[in-house]
Amino acid sequence: MTHPPVPLLDLKAQHATIKDEVAALVNEVIDEQAFILGPIVGRLECAVAGLSKTKFAVGCANGTDAILIAMRALDIGRDDEVVTSPFTFFATAGTIHNVGARPVFADIDPLTFNLDPAAAGAAVTSRTRAVIPVDLFGQMAAVEQVQAAVGNLPVIEDAAQSIGASRVIDGRTVMAGESVTFGTFSFFPSKNLGGFGDGGMIVTQDEALATTVLKLRTHGSMKTYYHEIVGYNSRLDALQAAVLMAKLPHLEAWSAARRANAAFYDQAFGDVADLVTPYIDPANTSIYNQYTVRAQNRDGLLAHLKARGVGCSVYYPLPLHLQPCFAYLGYSDGQFPESERASKEVLSLPVYPELTSTQRDIVADAVRAFYGR
Ligand SMILES: *Cc1c(COP(=O)(O)O)cnc(C)c1O
Repeated sequence: MTHPPVPLLDLKAQHATIKDEVAALVNEVIDEQAFILGPIVGRLECAVAGLSKTKFAVGCANGTDAILIAMRALDIGRDDEVVTSPFTFFATAGTIHNVGARPVFADIDPLTFNLDPAAAGAAVTSRTRAVIPVDLFGQMAAVEQVQAAVGNLPVIEDAAQSIGASRVIDGRTVMAGESVTFGTFSFFPSKNLGGFGDGGMIVTQDEALATTVLKLRTHGSMKTYYHEIVGYNSRLDALQAAVLMAKLPHLEAWSAARRANAAFYDQAFGDVADLVTPYIDPANTSIYNQYTVRAQNRDGLLAHLKARGVGCSVYYPLPLHLQPCFAYLGYSDGQFPESERASKEVLSLPVYPELTSTQRDIVADAVRAFYGR
């Protein structure tokens, strides 16, 4: 190796650019000694509602709780079914199980990796209470097509990887989380807007649902020590909100830098017939939480890149319908062929905004070398 390793993500490089802004806001919280919710969380909620063009935003402890609380607010539980994708992070389906409902999987569109609307529609039964499309790798799912395919069922858009992404629907630009019953975000450090620990947020246009979500995040109570429903301890930490408030003004530029890196790779790999570059639906503007290619000899490419010090990772190696914990659902290998094929072919490459042009060249050259270019 003649160059320093290129990591898949470099949070230290990002922090170096915003150190003082983060410290100033974090110190405000420390000086105030108001660590639970408080004004800074309210400010972040307003800012994220503004970004998502939603009327309401409620911070919570993490992106997993955001999905869980959204389902609880819809009163989803025992004997209910929720339709989602098997090609996503575990939390999307784990939360369905944890509210007591049954995860029902539907296959993905092989181009975008997102829930196939027709498959979602076909998975609906008389017990289905909601559908959770996932905006995977930073690109919005075809939420309007999913909505149409499942009739009037509530839609929870798992936008953990796509805060600030948009999609043109009927000639209008719609933000991730804007056009559905609930949008849910994660502020896990590796997301495009990441805290210094866990954090999450739920957005909605519906005031009654927003009020229920507010209750659910603090043990089901609006008035201290009086509990109307049984909820959770799932608050967004004020220190995390301070970090996120410092980062939020940079989000758009960071996402644009990711898009520029993606465009560079698209070009660099254009003549490599055996490598499939990401497909972005023309209606979508992706925030590229991941730049994910498909390769027939994926494991060979992965080993080749690792040996050359190029960070890369497989999201996700085992679809959720084949996870041991979901054996009780009775799914088998071969049932969701596109999700299964994706899990064998995908590889995510470094696309983070602080990637230098030298690092980009190293990644592109290493990939091309695998194909003898
Ligand atoms: C990260 C992620 C989550 C969970 O978020 P946490 O904040 O880690 O709980 C849920 N769904 C998807 C698709 C994610 O990528």
